[in-house]
Amino acid sequence: MDLTRRQAIGAGLAALGVASFGQRAAGQTSVPAANRRRVLRVAHITDCHLQAGPAEGGLARCFQHMRSQADAPTLILNTGDTVFNADARDEAETALQWALWRRITRAENSLPMEHALGNHCFWGANRERSKTTGREPRWGTKWAVDELGMPGPYYSFDRAGWHFVSLFNTRFNDAGGYTGGLDDEQFEWLAEDLRRRPANRPTVILSHISIVSVCSFFDGNNEREGGGWTINGGAMHTDARRLMQLFREVGNVRLCLSGHKHQVDLAELYGTRYWCGGAVSGNWWNDANPAHLGFERGYSLIDLYDDGSNDIQYVEYDLGYKPA
Ligand SMILES: [Zn+2]
Repeated sequence: MDLTRRQAIGAGLAALGVASFGQRAAGQTSVPAANRRRVLRVAHITDCHLQAGPAEGGLARCFQHMRSQADAPTLILNTGDTVFNADARDEAETALQWALWRRITRAENSLPMEHALGNHCFWGANRERSKTTGREPRWGTKWAVDELGMPGPYYSFDRAGWHFVSLFNTRFNDAGGYTGGLDDEQFEWLAEDLRRRPANRPTVILSHISIVSVCSFFDGNNEREGGGWTINGGAMHTDARRLMQLFREVGNVRLCLSGHKHQVDLAELYGTRYWCGGAVSGNWWNDANPAHLGFERGYSLIDLYDDGSNDIQYVEYDLGYKPA
């Protein structure tokens, strides 16, 4: 699919995302004000899955494509799975992947970046394959937090009149499996953070796994025999209802950005939009078959306005060479 058409679809989806149900239920509206003013243009990247090989040139190309935009973004929001799979790689391989990240971002990107951690950013979740014990000083989120210069595995900040919250929402079990969601400690932190923020400050939530996603229904054989649906607990927040309730209570949570599914979708509930932003790596850098379920490699351009409204488009980028 060519870029223009996909961009048009992205913009069309955004325009359709006006939910009268949400307006009535939450006393909010996502209908843009006639005199709204854009305060920030951000690029949303996710699922870079960087490792040695085609991913190196691909990621560089993505940054080049982004900065070649006539109306270029001034901030990058990255929702995780930045390196290929630190959860199941040993120390040497994980170090190599992070070294590649440093090299490519220093060479190709001069924009400020904010991050959320993905399941593959957590070093050693699979202890057997990563050859870790859990007692290594950089085990878990520590390594990625240090590499990415984050204040911690979850945090918040303000920019251009908007509030931003980065969550770490992969809940691992001892066997290295996981579900999407927040433990009580992080949930309480989030609730406190949102209540403390000025109520009129529109908010963006960054998380790797989607809090709500429509595409979770369509990434496998989710139709249950005999009727109904089965959604994997790792595909979407298992505590989505609890978070949605919080968002309705505090108000003005306008946009939740995520990745993880390598698919693109937009949902809106109670005045909050949920955008699942494809993947920089597409089909995990598979040159022979670059799109995952029809979704090409790409990133999102998102305009944030002073009235809390936002416009989103998914931008596919080409590699600039013919894959072998
Ligand atoms: Zn993921």
